[in-house]
Amino acid sequence: MARPQGLPKAILFDLDDTILAYESVADTVWAVVCNEFAARLDGVQPSALLAAIDRHRAWFWSDPERHRRGRLDLEFARREVVGGAFRRLGVEVPPVAEEIGLAYAKRREDAIEPFPGALETLGTLLEKGVRLALVTNGNAESQRRKIDRFGLEPYFDYVLIEGEFGAGKPEERVYRHALEQLGAGTDEAWMVGDNLEWEVAAPQRIGIFSIWMDGRRKGLPESTAVRPDRIINALPELL
Ligand SMILES: [Mg+2]
Repeated sequence: MARPQGLPKAILFDLDDTILAYESVADTVWAVVCNEFAARLDGVQPSALLAAIDRHRAWFWSDPERHRRGRLDLEFARREVVGGAFRRLGVEVPPVAEEIGLAYAKRREDAIEPFPGALETLGTLLEKGVRLALVTNGNAESQRRKIDRFGLEPYFDYVLIEGEFGAGKPEERVYRHALEQLGAGTDEAWMVGDNLEWEVAAPQRIGIFSIWMDGRRKGLPESTAVRPDRIINALPELL
């Protein structure tokens, strides 16, 4: 599909790792937390725990159903990831595992911030009369907290949160519902996001021009058959 001239009538935006740096801070935060608890790991090396956490969280988030349950209940997800990491090391899950999970949650939340130029881009699109919707998966409380903290609500004509709406990406009705709220057809809209299934393949299936946000400049994974209509590294490229 050719890139449309100019801007569309409406744009659907993903939140995490599209507007806010979120997943990209997880690696660093796990490393910091493992070191922070080094003295209380009952002989487990922080580096071994970190490696086990990395393996276990990759496994945990790889299954769509586990992913759905985990993103709607982050406390459950953290407990599973830290507990599973200890079990991988052949160690009984110690009481400190709970504290490690909480410390991670706190530090990670503190580390979240908008990508450079992201909010300015939303403001400019708004000024130009493009109708905007935020379409984000995850539980209502944590997504709302991020929206409030960074003052995102005023940029959007409509905000859809999986935990509030009762369905999430990649379900077709999610994109269709958001577009209805904006009064735009699928051929009048762009979807922008970092997840190749949720923000590229699924919206493309119903005719939405889909833009992949490759904020970490990693390029398309070799394993994927998904072909975004456009690839950007930062939101200001949309203007
Ligand atoms: Mg995302």
